[in-house]
Amino acid sequence: MDSQLHIFFFPYMAHGHMIPAIEMAKLFASRGCKASIVSTPANLPHIDKAIESGTNLGLEIEVLSIRFPTQEVGLPEGCENANSLTSQEMRNKFLTAVNMLDQPLDQLLMEHRPSCLVADLVFPWATDVSAKFGIPRLVFHGFSFFALCAWRSLLRHEPHKQVSSDSEPFVIPNLPDEIKITRNQLPDYMKEETEFSGFLKKLDESELNSYGIIINSYYELEPAYADHYRNVLGMKAWHVGPTFLCNEDKEGYKAERGQEASISEQECSNWLDSKKPNSVIYVCFGSVANFIDSQLMEIAMVLEASGKQFIWVVKKGKHEEGVKEEWLPEGFEKRMEGKGLIVRGWAPQLLILQHQAVGAFVTHCGWNSTLESVCAGVPMVTWPVSAEQFYNEKLATQVLGIGVGVGAKKWARLTGDSVKREAIEKAVNLIMEGKEAEEMRSRAKALGVLASRAVQEGGSSYKDLTALIEDLRLQRHGCGSK
Ligand code: UDP
Repeated sequence: MDSQLHIFFFPYMAHGHMIPAIEMAKLFASRGCKASIVSTPANLPHIDKAIESGTNLGLEIEVLSIRFPTQEVGLPEGCENANSLTSQEMRNKFLTAVNMLDQPLDQLLMEHRPSCLVADLVFPWATDVSAKFGIPRLVFHGFSFFALCAWRSLLRHEPHKQVSSDSEPFVIPNLPDEIKITRNQLPDYMKEETEFSGFLKKLDESELNSYGIIINSYYELEPAYADHYRNVLGMKAWHVGPTFLCNEDKEGYKAERGQEASISEQECSNWLDSKKPNSVIYVCFGSVANFIDSQLMEIAMVLEASGKQFIWVVKKGKHEEGVKEEWLPEGFEKRMEGKGLIVRGWAPQLLILQHQAVGAFVTHCGWNSTLESVCAGVPMVTWPVSAEQFYNEKLATQVLGIGVGVGAKKWARLTGDSVKREAIEKAVNLIMEGKEAEEMRSRAKALGVLASRAVQEGGSSYKDLTALIEDLRLQRHGCGSK
């Protein structure tokens, strides 16, 4: 069909980026576009599985493979996903390999000539590569409007260069609310000139020269920031989320989102079904953060002392009978039988959060997790670790009033700031009990209802996607808005 749009999606190879990008591809396909997801061989089996429900329904969605240069940069074969990197050296090599993907992308664009390229922020060269073929490039950050506004304000005004210490709070300039942060809570590459600072400039330029930004959020969640981003900062942006709400009705999808879960859907559901509404605390820190054993021990002690029921996801392999685990108090699991469930590896997070038994989420505030929690009407204990998670914490606690912080003070890749037992305990109690907890829960539930409306026909995200599709159609005929 001649008038059919063909959209290319090129997500960064990490769960937090791939999950929403794949859902976005399915979303476009469900609106009559052809969608192609570009990725590297080791990531393909997962993508194939994730799009299966869409292709079974007759959606036009395919996967295109490009080779990842592991050999050239000295990474082990098959190491093609950021979630499998275990050292800074590996991360540097991975980034070098990622920066070599411009050529294969160029080749694919030349062969297929899609109508639009939705490429991740971390591919700054994607704007120029697509411009060569007259293809509009949309940037996908995986950030909220709030985080995008905060990040742009910091880049533009550099208030962090005017404070005298790393712990002195300062206001992020010109935001709709007075939001304070400290230099300690900003990423290293923003505080000092590193190799990555140059890369950051490239990301910024590539975004400013792109066709616009596509955002996995909904207007009603952060209206002041959606308006600020577009009208005050002058950025061209479309919000089309929450992407998972557009996909979740497909059978089995929730249970295998991201990767195969370490616990069966049945076992997880049965366990939750046996619990009272709002009685379970869900603890999970996303796909990247990886706390040290002493921090996990503190969490275990809080969970036990709280007397509450919980599901706790820990990035550890299967427990072998008779082997002592240094991060867990002696006999913990035995004592917690029926009361607490430890998932070692990957949990079916969406399924858990949407279960009525779950009353709170202890989260690192990755944007996907934050959005999933809000949409499920679940208030949060916020424990940001790195990336843009400190901004998301401020959105949840200060703007939306649906979260209580544990008081993480320092941005630290993987391991996060060290947080003491008393602070975790206090936040967990505040989120589970009392009038304030009830109020936070009811605010979260109201936001969840608005999210469902946003993606239905006539809702704000539905309409923004329609507008984007229309815009791309006009663009193809040489009369789009840019
Ligand atoms: N996730 C999951 N099971 C896990 C851990 C994470 O399904 O055990 C999913 C989670 O639902 C979310 C994504 O992985 O969709 C993590 O993205 P987020 O932005 O929250 O954090 P990141 O992993 O990028 O730090």
